[in-house]
Amino acid sequence: MNIDTKINIAAIREDFPILNEQVNGKALVYFDNAATSQKPQVVIDALNQYYTHTNANIHRGAHYLAAKATSEYEATREAIKTFLNAESSEEIIFTKGTTEGINLVAATYGRKFIKKGDEIIISTMEHHSNIVPWQMLCEEKEAILKVIPINETGELDLDAYKNMLSDRTKLVSIVHISNALGTINPVKEMIEAAHQVDAVVFVDGAQGAVHLDIDVQALDCDFYAFSGHKVYAPTGIGALYGKKAILEKMPPYHGGGEMIKEVSFEKTTYNELPFKIEAGTPNIGDVIAFKAALDYVQGIGKAHIAAHEKALLDYATQQLAAIEGLRIVGTAKEKASVISFVFEDIHHADVGVLLDNQGIAIRTGHHCAQPLMKHLGLSGTSRASFAVYNTQEEVDQFITGLKKVIKMMRG
Ligand SMILES: *Cc1c(COP(=O)(O)O)cnc(C)c1O
Repeated sequence: MNIDTKINIAAIREDFPILNEQVNGKALVYFDNAATSQKPQVVIDALNQYYTHTNANIHRGAHYLAAKATSEYEATREAIKTFLNAESSEEIIFTKGTTEGINLVAATYGRKFIKKGDEIIISTMEHHSNIVPWQMLCEEKEAILKVIPINETGELDLDAYKNMLSDRTKLVSIVHISNALGTINPVKEMIEAAHQVDAVVFVDGAQGAVHLDIDVQALDCDFYAFSGHKVYAPTGIGALYGKKAILEKMPPYHGGGEMIKEVSFEKTTYNELPFKIEAGTPNIGDVIAFKAALDYVQGIGKAHIAAHEKALLDYATQQLAAIEGLRIVGTAKEKASVISFVFEDIHHADVGVLLDNQGIAIRTGHHCAQPLMKHLGLSGTSRASFAVYNTQEEVDQFITGLKKVIKMMRG
């Protein structure tokens, strides 16, 4: 099989300086992209450029650099609005990442609108960051957390989900693409069903925003959160989309500078959206570099990236399936470029270490989804996940590497 792709991967690889690193004396093969992606030079340059030529605090400064920093910072908000196809840039809130987006909504919308006896629905395949904030909220409010089951291929049981929905359901929070199984969930259909009982829907887009074209208006989700660092941007920055009508009803998250209109000791009035929800000096440099990453992705084209990743996924799946004693965990019909697998006789931690010795970086363990692992009866899996710069040759190296691991372990 040949990876037929409309993009020039050799040229793309040159954009990522870290791909020249040697690890344990071997050329790096980086297959841990679902944990974080590597950064192209344009993103590194944008950070450098900001601190070298622009650094100033934003929104209130009366000088040249403050105005320049503000306009670059706000240009990222516009870019994210376009990236998600939101209706307006007031609906885009900067966060530290997906985790903060979920916590923010739980602590504001959740605190205000979730009451005793209300039900919140999540699923078996959620990342810890889409479990724990809702659990904390349910504990505080005496609300009830319900969990959508999955089938043996790692797909959600939609009938069970629809049966769970009732007028007690106030919020559904669901992962768009599972970081542990690769499953792409039918979120549009799920959002429609939730809206029929007037529940709001939060989509954890930490993987979805990386691998799919996102249109929040077509999805009609109420919230969508993602992290910059998984989509080739720096760490410490992410975005939360919320429908304007809902954000307006929400109380602020943190109190402080930037989020206020007027402060007196008697009463404070809040700033307009989106600033009402962004207290304090934000992560200006990383926000500005975030736009460089989104421009980079749009420049290649998300559809081309997705096609390339799908080809790698299919190729790797075929190669892995041929290995004796290896089982792929997560075989949903709709999958993104994440493959989890286990051996009958070799522990995932050993697989990780022995591949690392050969310069091949994968993830092993529970992938921040302990309840899912428990459901699957596993202590963890090995996970390879692909990005735009990965190649068929790297998949071959990975398969050869795995065969060495097997030889070592099976003797
Ligand atoms: C990575 C990830 C998160 C958490 O994202 P952070 O960047 O760590 O905040 C949540 N959900 C999924 C599906 C993820 O892959």
